[in-house]
Amino acid sequence: MNICGDYEALNLMVEEALQYTKHGKVANYIPALSTANRDLLSLSIYEGESTVASAGDTFKTFTLQSISKVLALALALMDKGEDGVFSRVGMEPTGDPFNSIIKLETHSPSKPLNPMINAGALAVTNMIEGNSVDEKLGRLLSFIHELTGNSSITFNEQVAISEYNTADLNRSLAYFLKQHDVVTGNIERLLELYTKQCAIEVNCEDLAKIAYVIGNEGRHVETGRSIIPLHIARIMKTFMTTCGMYNASGEFAIKVGIPSKSGVSGAIMASVPHGPGIGIYGPSLDEKGNSIAGMKLLESLSHRYDLNIF
Ligand code: GLU
Repeated sequence: MNICGDYEALNLMVEEALQYTKHGKVANYIPALSTANRDLLSLSIYEGESTVASAGDTFKTFTLQSISKVLALALALMDKGEDGVFSRVGMEPTGDPFNSIIKLETHSPSKPLNPMINAGALAVTNMIEGNSVDEKLGRLLSFIHELTGNSSITFNEQVAISEYNTADLNRSLAYFLKQHDVVTGNIERLLELYTKQCAIEVNCEDLAKIAYVIGNEGRHVETGRSIIPLHIARIMKTFMTTCGMYNASGEFAIKVGIPSKSGVSGAIMASVPHGPGIGIYGPSLDEKGNSIAGMKLLESLSHRYDLNIF
């Protein structure tokens, strides 16, 4: 497949999807995200062997937000194994908003239903090994440097602080989980790590490369060396498919059919198995927290290049 060579069509699809930005809003519950420009839309597609195509404002950087949950999950699985991770977090979609607390109380045991909702992500981040927040975050960043080949990637301090200072709902989830022995240790340090993890800053090309590795059996984009064990890359793609687009994952699977994960910054990472990696940034969100123009763009890409995995 040579999608990257179809440059004019890619630009046109971005132009067409751009009109949907005016129907959404940028996230404002994290104050630092509220200053994003609603009218942006950018795309990168990576097809391996340094073949990349980009359209829109591709050098614009943005924070991973919930996309970081997929990467933290990979690290926790490498650290603790499947039994360790899934003893504390489930494998089922919830159908509820990403920050919902409701099922934690109504389900017994009080184990978060999956690693993509905030409660599950907090439990997963709590399992990353290291002696300090810096060491754990450093391990996650090194992993991302390896996935992208870009060792300058770091976290945006302003976004991290802005979320940390206002993360009362995530704080309540974390304290609830501690009471029920799902998370251990100091909750404020967990919140610090989680908010820094969510504030890791990339551009569309970085995101497309990460997506490519996940889609292509966890192998390094250039050397082919295994960075993510195959069974873990499969688990990542499966959660992206069943829960990656919040409580719109079912509709997205029908309309687009590509394992994808979104974040409230407006980013979407889409991994076509044995195919291209796609990175999108469009901060105007729909009411469920997904990039409104980004989803339209993925729908067009999926149709034009027959990327639906089902
Ligand atoms: N940092 C965000 C939060 O925990 C991530 C949410 C998201 O991107 O869905 O609220």
